[in-house]
Amino acid sequence: MKIEKNKTLAPMTTLKIGGKAKFFIETKNIEELKDIINWAKEKKEKIIFFSGGSNVLINDKNINGLVIKLSYTNLSINNNELDCDAGLSLTQILTTTIKHNLTGLEWIIGIPGTIGGGVYGNIGAFNNDIAKIVKNVTVYNIKENKFLTLSNKQCYFDYRDSIFKQTNNLIIVKVKLILKKGSQITIKKLINKYLDYRNTTQPKGYSAGSTFKNLTLDYVKSVNPDLAFQAEKNNIIRDNKIAASWIIDKLGLKNKQIGGAKISEKHAGFILNINQAKAKDVINLINFIKQEAKTKYNINLEEEIRYLGF
Ligand SMILES: Cc1cc2nc3c(=O)[nH]c(=O)nc-3n(C[C@H](O)[C@H](O)[C@H](O)COP(=O)(O)OP(=O)(O)OC[C@H]3O[C@@H](n4cnc5c(N)ncnc54)[C@H](O)[C@@H]3O)c2cc1C
Repeated sequence: MKIEKNKTLAPMTTLKIGGKAKFFIETKNIEELKDIINWAKEKKEKIIFFSGGSNVLINDKNINGLVIKLSYTNLSINNNELDCDAGLSLTQILTTTIKHNLTGLEWIIGIPGTIGGGVYGNIGAFNNDIAKIVKNVTVYNIKENKFLTLSNKQCYFDYRDSIFKQTNNLIIVKVKLILKKGSQITIKKLINKYLDYRNTTQPKGYSAGSTFKNLTLDYVKSVNPDLAFQAEKNNIIRDNKIAASWIIDKLGLKNKQIGGAKISEKHAGFILNINQAKAKDVINLINFIKQEAKTKYNINLEEEIRYLGF
């Protein structure tokens, strides 16, 4: 067990923001997890965990506690079932499914991060989400000091939500996915279609993906019927949701900059770290957007990105 001190976290995130962790460990071994958690408990250190760092804003001040980076990466296939360690990157998993002619995951192309982080936030794109293909999830329960396996139903998946997000004391260690047999040509065609769409609609650069969750049509109708009507007229409703980025764009906030953080011109849902942004710059920009959405449209925007170490 190699616990480091004063480890800088920024390079481990896609936003490139994050201060020094008082204690840090990157673990590649599931068996070690119990000892790590016990170490933190004995020392009465707060436990913070992350994986790919692609959906987080980490505090750039000193971070008290033990920060654990979950990096276990075994993968095995049994017919159309994949047993994935939680630290496997989504890209690694997609590459394996292509090799084995398995369909159902094409939509994850271009999403950085790991399957553990993906299950935590029930990632999705193009009217799909990971919940649709998860059979079960093995977790380490920090409170009860034990491993357990949850069925799909027990994960309480919802739009960008799960039991893991609600409790924050379950560390995902393994995910079993069920896919279907498909044709490699069709799989690759679909991947290219999704990738083309991403490349034309999303910016390059340092970001944590979409800052806010999309809004249900019902919610927007209830707080601002006129805005809901405009969304319907402009044919921008997907999966019964209105993109937060459409609202931010309508507010005229593309290119709005605070310090080194800027709203992307290409996709108003993305906040980019364009010039050594501080965590505070990103937070101020997020709060500014939320305030504008509330004042002008009576809309409450909710963050999709997670705050760590604050
Ligand atoms: C360019 C870009 C595009 C993106 N596109 C999409 C998209 O289309 N759709 C989408 O849904 N998301 C998207 N994202 C967001 C992000 O990539 C996904 O949410 C990703 O799955 C997060 O995984 P991660 O390993 O990076 O999680 P992290 O950023 O490391 O962590 C995110 C949260 O999950 C928790 N967590 C991480 N690992 C575990 C674990 N093993 N057990 C329990 N909790 C854990 C952390 O505590 C944290 O709260 C995008 C991000 C970027 C930068």
